[in-house]
Amino acid sequence: MGLSGDSEVARYLPASPIAGRATADVLSPIDNAKLATITLDTAETYEQTVAASVKAFETWRLVPAPERGQVVRAIGDEFRTHKQALGRLVALEVGKILQEGWGEVQETIDIADFAVGLSRQLYGLTMPSERRDHRLMEQWHPLGPIGVISAFNFPNAVWAWNSMLAAVCGDTTVWKPSLFAPLTAIASNALAQRVATRMGHRDIFTLVIGTDDVVGERMVADKRMPLISATGSCRMGKRVGSIVAQRMGRCLLELGGNNACIIDQDADLALAIPAVVFGAAGTAGQRCTTTRRLIVHESIVDDVCGRLVRAYKQLKIGNPTIEGNLIGPLINQRSVEGFKHAVAAAKQQGGTVLAGGNTLSMPGNYVEPTIIRAPASNELAIAREETFAPILYVFSFKTLDQAIAMQNGVDQGLSSSIFTNSMRSAERFLGPAGSDCGIANVNAGTSGAEIGGAFGGEKETGGGRESGSDSWKAYMRRQTNTVHYGTKLALAQGIKFD
Ligand code: NAD
Repeated sequence: MGLSGDSEVARYLPASPIAGRATADVLSPIDNAKLATITLDTAETYEQTVAASVKAFETWRLVPAPERGQVVRAIGDEFRTHKQALGRLVALEVGKILQEGWGEVQETIDIADFAVGLSRQLYGLTMPSERRDHRLMEQWHPLGPIGVISAFNFPNAVWAWNSMLAAVCGDTTVWKPSLFAPLTAIASNALAQRVATRMGHRDIFTLVIGTDDVVGERMVADKRMPLISATGSCRMGKRVGSIVAQRMGRCLLELGGNNACIIDQDADLALAIPAVVFGAAGTAGQRCTTTRRLIVHESIVDDVCGRLVRAYKQLKIGNPTIEGNLIGPLINQRSVEGFKHAVAAAKQQGGTVLAGGNTLSMPGNYVEPTIIRAPASNELAIAREETFAPILYVFSFKTLDQAIAMQNGVDQGLSSSIFTNSMRSAERFLGPAGSDCGIANVNAGTSGAEIGGAFGGEKETGGGRESGSDSWKAYMRRQTNTVHYGTKLALAQGIKFD
């Protein structure tokens, strides 16, 4: 499959590789055929791009925020116009089914809308001063050029969650996408850059593409970027976080998850089963919020497993651009190897494969969505790791306390859910001794999130929050101001110094 024959997306192809520069081939996971060859950035071109972003920030920060919002509004409209083609490019480049490719671009449109409204709501507080004739208040100022590092599996939306908010906050962004999804990045950044330039604002959105040693680590260590917002594996986050901490920069880390769903004995299985199937098998298990562990009350675990196995038999695996197929490929052969390793380890540790477990012998990186039942001891070491593939491990529990302890008993803390009709169980799950994750849902699956809420997780998931709610504050610097409009100097805490 080549892109050049696909008239809908061919116009997003990058220009021919630049002679004398390092290049990388971009393969489609659908069949591992080459989609395009891209030119990689060098230390010199990185420098030019960041310098342009720094320069653009100097003027962009002075543009009134509601006017910045108008630029973001126009960018949202541009993505509306290009939604079909861009969603298709996402499908070709990372193997999502078309509905999900379009859904991802819709997230970009939605966060742009959110950011437009936000551009008039970057509120600071005023507080009563303890001193007479003093005003005490805080304001939020633009922070600087923001480094955005994105994972392959959300090649468009993660950038938008960051850059649309950053733009209304008065920041510029330098985006470093995954080398497994650079084409969506080239197209998305070009759309945003084109709109902003047409409206008189160049280099608000810039892009650097390269290897982690030439470009990635250079960016992370770059003091000109006060915030690095990095999305990817826990391994990456530990490395990036420590480098940024060395220079006292700020990090917004959105890292791996190991998300569990609890099904209580009184759960409505008509809700729970489809939510688990989508959560565990959808996007071929390549969402950070994918359901990886299922914790079911012992009285219904056999029934739940039976229903899941029957549902899994209906899932069509194959080319995600063909209607009807629900499970596309993994991103590359390395991921297929990771899948094989996890299935073998689970078996060796006493797990029983109830569904799937195999790779498919056809071009591309296809595996079967897999359900593995843990042994009666509930011990299954491999389930503590995030394998980025559609593997669901099933455990059983007797008491809700036990289920919550199992759910929380991993290093990651991104998403979680409980299916129950008991108000008490639901509230305990959401309470201070309940789920320790950044996202906790009741009668809704772990997978996916709305842009209106703050998105992110605890523990090794990194602690960052982006997208909705007050996540915008990460992209600004807070300044506390005291204004004295009286005639007599008054020190705080009533101190006399005369
Ligand atoms: P990855 O960690 O391999 O790569 C993510 C990004 O980090 C890429 O752009 C990569 O080039 C960059 N990177 C890696 N090492 C770097 C370094 N030393 N310096 C600078 N940049 C570096 O992850 P992936 O395979 O692309 O994505 C899958 C992972 O991302 C999973 O763990 C998934 O859970 C996670 N993820 C998390 C979220 C979230 O919001 N929490 C969202 C999507 C994906």
